[in-house]
Amino acid sequence: MGLHHGQVLRILRDEGPNSRAILARRSKLSATTLTHVTAQLLADGSVVEEEPGASGGLGRPALAIRLLPDAHHVAGVHIGAGLVQLTVTNLLGSPKAAASFEYGLPNTSPEALTTRIADEIERLKAVSGVEDLLGVGVGVPGPVDAGQRSILASINTGWRNLPLAGMLERRTGLSVVLEHNVSAMAVAEARFGLGRNVAAVLFVYLRSGLGAGLVVDGMPFRPGGHGAVELGHIQISQDGPLCSCGNHGCLESYVNERVLMRSLGSEGSAPADLLMQLERTASWKPTLARLTDSLAIAISLLTPDLIVFGGHLGDAPDSLFSHLREHLPPRVMPHMREILRLERTSFGSQSGPIGGAAVALDHFFYSGARL
Ligand SMILES: [Zn+2]
Repeated sequence: MGLHHGQVLRILRDEGPNSRAILARRSKLSATTLTHVTAQLLADGSVVEEEPGASGGLGRPALAIRLLPDAHHVAGVHIGAGLVQLTVTNLLGSPKAAASFEYGLPNTSPEALTTRIADEIERLKAVSGVEDLLGVGVGVPGPVDAGQRSILASINTGWRNLPLAGMLERRTGLSVVLEHNVSAMAVAEARFGLGRNVAAVLFVYLRSGLGAGLVVDGMPFRPGGHGAVELGHIQISQDGPLCSCGNHGCLESYVNERVLMRSLGSEGSAPADLLMQLERTASWKPTLARLTDSLAIAISLLTPDLIVFGGHLGDAPDSLFSHLREHLPPRVMPHMREILRLERTSFGSQSGPIGGAAVALDHFFYSGARL
């Protein structure tokens, strides 16, 4: 039965209130099954029945079933290299509270990190007044196993085969699911942001590294069952600088926070307007050219309808977007020139934790798993 609940909940999430007749048609469930499912959802408090607007027609209008966004909540966590962001959201990914903290690499053990995350989730519950959470979704800096329980390998943190979901479950008492952190951001855009009703959404995120995540037909793209879209490790020069992956001349070896800060003559932590500052230097043109080259390859291989930019790219000057909008289309197949859209993330600096929350909602609510 869980699957049927999930089907109905996803229709209500994506289309808004609907009558039972329309829900039955959309979900292809029999009237009997649908009545049973909606009765359980009403009893659970996830949906309500309401009078539709004045119909003006004859007879009693059909009652509409509406999702109650604040019926349940989840926690979303983004683990980046040296930074953790957290949020608690409702069923539509709207944040109720947020927090963040930095951690030292490589000195912070995974045990210490999960303890801190568990403490912060408790604090967020208190701040937001949310008593119960359906579960926790964690965006992590590397590909995850098919069961979404372990981080397979994270170059920037040095973690390998780390069973983070179980570790965090023991500390929080909550169910936990993992996803590659930029894939999680792509999921958030596909569910609650610019990528709704878009077939293929590619998210590109620049902070300490350059990551990407792809959602196709609503599902994170996981080549080989656990892969990631390694845009940052497209090799653009065989004799380029050493990359964190051990190869030479990857896009990320040229376009990452540390290298871009060095171009600004600084070694400190990167400011929010990093790319605004870089725009005024001689490094800007080659950076744009390398990004454009790599994105052209990604578009030809992955055919995204929409590319969403986050992290420093979300805060990039308008000139970056006008450059890409002018120079990318001529380099890809004619049909892609018509389709492709390039946008900043709709979640600003919160794309990571809202991504975690979107993954948790998919797993613990919109799958129907909890009913
Ligand atoms: Zn690399």
